[in-house]
Amino acid sequence: MKCIFIILDGLGDRPIKELGNLTPLEAANTPNMDFLAQQGDCGMLLPVGLGIAPESGPAHFEIFGYSPFSDFYPGRGPLEALGTGFDLKENDLAFRVNFATLENNKIIDRRAGRIKDVSIFEKDLSFELNGVQFIFKAGTEHRGALILRGENLSKELTDSDPRQENLPPLEIKPLSPTADFTAMILNEYLRKTNEILSEHSVNKKREKDGLLAANYLLLRGAGFFKEIEPFNEKYNLKSCCIAGAGLYKGIAKFLKMDLITTQEATGAKDTNIKNKISKAKEMIDDYDFIWVHIKAVDLFGHDGDFVGKTEILEKIDKNLEIIKNTDCLKIITGDHSTPCEIKDHSSDPVSLLISGHGIQKETMEKFGEKNCENGKLGTMIGKDLMPKIKDLMAEH
Ligand SMILES: [Zn+2]
Repeated sequence: MKCIFIILDGLGDRPIKELGNLTPLEAANTPNMDFLAQQGDCGMLLPVGLGIAPESGPAHFEIFGYSPFSDFYPGRGPLEALGTGFDLKENDLAFRVNFATLENNKIIDRRAGRIKDVSIFEKDLSFELNGVQFIFKAGTEHRGALILRGENLSKELTDSDPRQENLPPLEIKPLSPTADFTAMILNEYLRKTNEILSEHSVNKKREKDGLLAANYLLLRGAGFFKEIEPFNEKYNLKSCCIAGAGLYKGIAKFLKMDLITTQEATGAKDTNIKNKISKAKEMIDDYDFIWVHIKAVDLFGHDGDFVGKTEILEKIDKNLEIIKNTDCLKIITGDHSTPCEIKDHSSDPVSLLISGHGIQKETMEKFGEKNCENGKLGTMIGKDLMPKIKDLMAEH
């Protein structure tokens, strides 16, 4: 049996007074998820383990059976770089990049006025310095990735992002003596690119139009790229990924899953859910394991917008009609909880449903946290999920 594996990023939540002490998932009208829950098994998932509020990257690694605490975990930089579509080579050093606006040596906007597209700068920001190749690749909106290819590089560095506005950008400092050279050339690169960007015709035009210039690069998440055992070999499955946001595309590329593109999959609140789920159904002929990632749920959690979170879950549910009766294993869960109450990731377990293997077991009326706590699957740990899925795929 094949499998459609849907991760609703930051799905888990806590009871909210304004929702009648229900969570957004419990308050949402979700007839299709309820149907799938009734046709399958439910439980709770602790993606990384008890008491850990994980970031999305490590949580996905754990769920896919790769420990984020191992040496090979590349960190955010290489994952974002892969997510731009760039092919990293072994030992490439990569950072995630935000375009910012620098004025009078202060970062006045950490997103450069949310500039829509930075791909125009790719060529001008890619050059050689002190024998090291610097390659800039654009991501979505104001985001991108910087790749350093060369000798004697180190990731033992501080960031250049002051994390707050109206502060000067930070000098990159070495955290060990072996990182002196890397820190030196990175600071030089940031000075040079600030000059290039300040004189760039695109920024001259932005300033004329009253927009903020995208004239400074904030670097974070340094990490080296290493090859690891691909997902398909580890599980003997042909897999693909349907995602919008760069990090998740990067995770898929790192695990060597095929990336399937869909129209309007933005990784933002406006993402086209119908296109993603329709594409998953279409891919079932060609793939054993189809991972669908929807980021929007988490974004509403971070904003504390419980109405928005409830509505996006209803929108997702409506589109689950497309695969409700597809003959395959259907799994819905999250990579962590993002409770609206705290606007951040928490260690709370997240609802899990596994459906489509033909055994009608659960009697619950509604898919949601409270009912899943009493589900037949109990509380599962992230790394136990893939073996369970593999068993079910083999049995049915
Ligand atoms: Zn997440």
